[in-house]
Amino acid sequence: MTRGTGTAHPADPGPVLLNPGPVTLSAGVREALQGPDLCHREPEFADLQDRIRAGLLDVYNLPGDSWAAVVLGGSGTAAVEAMLCSLVPDDGRVLVIENGVYGERMRRICEIHGIAHHALHLAWGERMRPEAVRDALEALPGATHVAVVHHETTTGRLNDLDGLGEMCREQGIGLLVDGVSSYGAESMDFGAIEACAGTANKCLHGVPGISFVTLRRHVLDSPPRPRTLYLDLSAYLAAQDRRDTPFTQPVPAYYALDRALAELTRAGGQAARLARYRALAARVSIGLTRLGIEPLLGEDESSAVLNAYRLPAGLSYEALHDGLKQAGFVIYAGQGGLKQSIFRISTMGAITDEDIDRLLAAFNTIAGKPSGGQI
Ligand SMILES: *Cc1c(COP(=O)(O)O)cnc(C)c1O
Repeated sequence: MTRGTGTAHPADPGPVLLNPGPVTLSAGVREALQGPDLCHREPEFADLQDRIRAGLLDVYNLPGDSWAAVVLGGSGTAAVEAMLCSLVPDDGRVLVIENGVYGERMRRICEIHGIAHHALHLAWGERMRPEAVRDALEALPGATHVAVVHHETTTGRLNDLDGLGEMCREQGIGLLVDGVSSYGAESMDFGAIEACAGTANKCLHGVPGISFVTLRRHVLDSPPRPRTLYLDLSAYLAAQDRRDTPFTQPVPAYYALDRALAELTRAGGQAARLARYRALAARVSIGLTRLGIEPLLGEDESSAVLNAYRLPAGLSYEALHDGLKQAGFVIYAGQGGLKQSIFRISTMGAITDEDIDRLLAAFNTIAGKPSGGQI
């Protein structure tokens, strides 16, 4: 079946989603959503939850005796908020590194919950230099945690966790990572990471509704005073280790993630997914470069998950978006000050080479030179 333009027929899967989540579903994940009605207090749910928690650790080969995945209802922000609220004690202090919307969101979370913090503010898309982090840590005596976004989806920049992790380890500081748009695809060395927030509906190819925090078990050995009831990771961890859940979970989203994790394993795991995303991103980039459309960041600075491109002169984002949507593709705008200068293309989800070729043909129609520049 071909993908239409997202009109009413229920069998129509809608346009190809090239926004950074939710993603275009595989047929298998779509089918899994139709699983049986299930009570979250029944053993069948516990089995499903156990499988998902183990599968989330398996993505990065993390051993279950020292690591745990805690699954909660809510979008990626819920997991990030739960991580900061549940792991930083009352007398803790966080250095938040921000070079985009999602770093700034972590600062906002700290402000709202009264978590002592200092923000190392960088311009959107700016590289996080180790010296700047070192200086910021020196200026924050008693820092217990560093919070950083791995893949800053605002610009597509992949922040370098390795150097940062090394620094945190040297200083005995816990590294908290927003891995919402990288978990499942980008490589991550968990050696220096204390906890990482992720979501079902980005690189893992599930549906929106559940997110998770992968953490070292020992960080919740004596949990800090909870700042929230619903997002208290220690309550989730205790319940999930008993094969239970504190609250009603979005069961269909569990079905979908279970299936999506099985598909990830079958496709060769995280390394294979990274290679696949790289190939798709290269296909897009080569095609757009031929049309004179330039990437915002160099290849070595950008994730494989999403790339930002400069809007060609004389073409508004709205015209580009609407033209592509007509052709069956949804792309994503820049945020804030980047709204009228960039657009973003993500290749997460069940995207084929043919999808990209059709996308490039549509681009050629909308943004190609009047002289008929061929791609
Ligand atoms: C998508 C995203 C989030 C969470 O967004 P939600 O809309 O809450 O799912 C957080 N951090 C990053 C880096 C993201 O890309």
